[in-house]
Parts: sequence; C-alpha cells; structure tokens
Amino acid sequence: MATSATHVHDHDSGEGLLSVEDAREKVLSQVQPLATINLPLTESHGCVLAEDAVASSDIPDFPSSAMDGFAVRSSDVAAASPASPVELTIVGRAPIGRRPEATVGGGEAVRIATGAPVPAGADTIVPIENCEATGDRVRILAASPEGKHIRPAGEDVKAGEVLVARGRRLGGPELALLAAAGFSHPLVHPRPRVVVLSTGDELIAPPGSPGYGQVRDSNAYLLFGALREVGAAPVLAGIVRDEVDELRDTVISRAVQADAFVSSGGVSVGERDVVKAAFFRRGDVEFFKVAMQPGMPQGFGTIEGKPYFGLPGNPVSVFVSFEVLIRPAILKMMGRTNLFRPEITARLTADVSGPKGKTQFARVLVRPEGDGYVASPTGGRGSNLIATVARANGLAIVPPGVQTAAAGTEVTVMVFRAPED
Ligand code: AMP
Ligand code: MG
Repeated sequence: MATSATHVHDHDSGEGLLSVEDAREKVLSQVQPLATINLPLTESHGCVLAEDAVASSDIPDFPSSAMDGFAVRSSDVAAASPASPVELTIVGRAPIGRRPEATVGGGEAVRIATGAPVPAGADTIVPIENCEATGDRVRILAASPEGKHIRPAGEDVKAGEVLVARGRRLGGPELALLAAAGFSHPLVHPRPRVVVLSTGDELIAPPGSPGYGQVRDSNAYLLFGALREVGAAPVLAGIVRDEVDELRDTVISRAVQADAFVSSGGVSVGERDVVKAAFFRRGDVEFFKVAMQPGMPQGFGTIEGKPYFGLPGNPVSVFVSFEVLIRPAILKMMGRTNLFRPEITARLTADVSGPKGKTQFARVLVRPEGDGYVASPTGGRGSNLIATVARANGLAIVPPGVQTAAAGTEVTVMVFRAPED
C-alpha cells in the first residue's frame, strides 16, 4: 500500500513512531495459521483447505443418458430415416437410480430416462421424438452416432484428479464438489474464536440508558461485525471495568476457549489505561505508537500463548486499526494468503487533510463515475465519529508527508465494501 516502510521522524507527528507497514509486519509476525482440524462439510464453509482433496473415483461414476428415449447400438440405426425407419425390439427399461432391466443386443432397444445409467451393449441414445413405440416394438426414424446423448463417466472429474487444491477457501461450489466425491470431514484451518472485550468504567451495555457521562458500548458490535465478515468466530465477553485484576481475570479465564483476544480502550498513557497496566509488566504484550491517524496507540502480544490485540477506545480508531492491522492477522490465522483489502484509485471530491508525518485513513464513499471512481469524505476527522464509518465503503490513504490531498486529485482507497453493496 501507499505508505512508508520506515520510521517517521517528523516532529509534527512525534518521533519514533512505527510506520504502518512496520506495525503490520510486527503484528503479522506474531500470528501463525491455526492448527488444522477435520471439520464437517458445513462447518468447514469459509475455511481454507489444508491438503489437496483428490478424487478417489470418477465423477460421475457411471455413463448416463442426457435424453428421454431409447438406448440402442449406433450400428443398428446408422441407416435409419423417416422414409426408411429401423425397427427394434424393446427388451426392457433403464430407470433413474437403478440397474437397467436388460442389456442391449443387436436389434434391441431399452427405453431410457434422462439421468439413468446406460445399459451395457448400447452406445447411443435416440431421443424420444425420433422414435415411434408400439407394444414391444420401436421404429427408429433417425441415425444416432456412437456416444450421442450419453454423458460419459468421469466427464466432470477423473479419478486421481485434484478436486480442490490446498489453500483454497471452501465456498458452496467447493463444498458441493467435495460432497459429490464423498468427503465428509475435510482438513481445514478452523475459524479463530476471538474473544472481544470492551474496557471502560464509562461504558454501559446497549440498549441501556446512559447516566451522565456514560457511553453505550459500540465497539463490541463493530468488532463482532468485522470478525464475522472476515470469517472468524467472535465471542463477546462484554464490558470490563478499568480494574487491572478484573481485566486479567477475564482474559485468563477465557483463554482456554480463545484463539485470540481483541480489546478496545485502555492502551494509551492516561491513568485509567487498564490494558497497559494489566499486561505491560508481563513483557509479552508490547505497547507502541503507530504513525497513523486515527488509531495511534496499540498493544500487541500474546497472553497465555494466544495473540492479544489491544486497540484504542475510539470507535473509528477501532475500525481503522482492525482494518489495517488486525484483519490481515486474522486472515493469516485462517491460513489465507491474500491478506489485504483491494485498493483502487479514486478522485477526491473534497480536500482531505491529515497530520503531517502520519498515514491518514479518511472515511470515504466511493462510487463509479465515468471510467473510474470518485471518493467523497463522509464527514469530520474525529475518531469518535462512528457515523462517518457507517456511511463509508472505503478508507482513502493520505500518505505521510502529504498534509492535504486536494479535491480533484487521485488517492488510493482501501475498499472495505463493494461500491454496489
Ligand atoms: P480510551 O482509549 O479507553 O481512553 O477510550 C477513548 C474514547 O473511546 C473514550 O471517549 C471512550 O469513552 C471511548 N470508548 C472506549 N471504549 C468504547 C466502546 N466500547 N464503545 C464506545 N466508545 C468507547
Ligand atoms: Mg477507557
């Protein structure tokens, strides 16, 4: 992406901040794909396959008819025409899902249904509209070459072929193919179970009525949605007060059922910054500042061997931090290799200014116009303005060193929702 990979020393932004790319590297280096597990087909939906799935037999595994009609020998009907029909003896039926009642010898025909197995001896199907059947006799009015209207065995997949390659994410069509081939529990990287915590003495659970100065916890829902959309399994652990022991107890008690933790709030330098107080001294969670706006202070590490992502408290910071730093890490845990959002180039409809020396991620609404895209800022810059995210579908990237990206100029936009969607 269009960000600098070096440390930023511009004083306007504070010295020694970690660049966005370095922060991303740091976070990614701390997570690994989850250990593989055999899951039932429905549970494996959305997961990445961990080994090639190979067909043990042909699909389909028997030749079948593509038409209603008669299964015959092509040599018997080679000279048939409306003027000189060929008359054959009907020796039985070939129904769907069962063994044909008879085989086809010279001068014989078997009445066959679409999808039914082709009886032995027959090598072609004459569609019903070219046949006149009376009693046990059928008059064939047209020739039908060998193989005509027969779906051969192995037409879809041959035995030994790779059905779904390792590394492929399982969608409906892949599941259908595995089901057709008889797989019941493919080997996949499971969905990470991510425990979500909201820290803050001022928080109350929605939809409760806030007392003076209280705030409804919205971050839990932001993270729930973001985690669901990326394919993880969020577990909301609720609101944790700004008490070191309470946070520690909550996290440790949840560790057995978690593959990762995401908390919001309490990572900067104020006295109430509980995440820092709870985990800083353990040495396994590192707190640092990233040269980005919004979303600067972050804490990352492992607690009880599980990745811990400590995000800032402001909802827009949570969203941007998740998009830029956490989402790629969750995808890596899922065994995915394409970790980043698509980026497009769009023309700004209004100025976007940010702090010099930091990468600014500005909420924009992108829409197609002419041959390209235009991006309109959805509101103010404040990192408390969650409505500006709810109206947006992209984050315009204003790189460090650019103070104002002017209306009419082109910017790179990380698209988090399809413009039509
Ligand atoms: P903090 O980083 O804990 O100082 O929080 C920064 C700002 O984000 C404060 O104004 C908090 O009230 C707000 N905030 C923190 N957590 C949440 C949350 N879960 N939902 C909504 N706002 C929050
Ligand atoms: Mg707080």
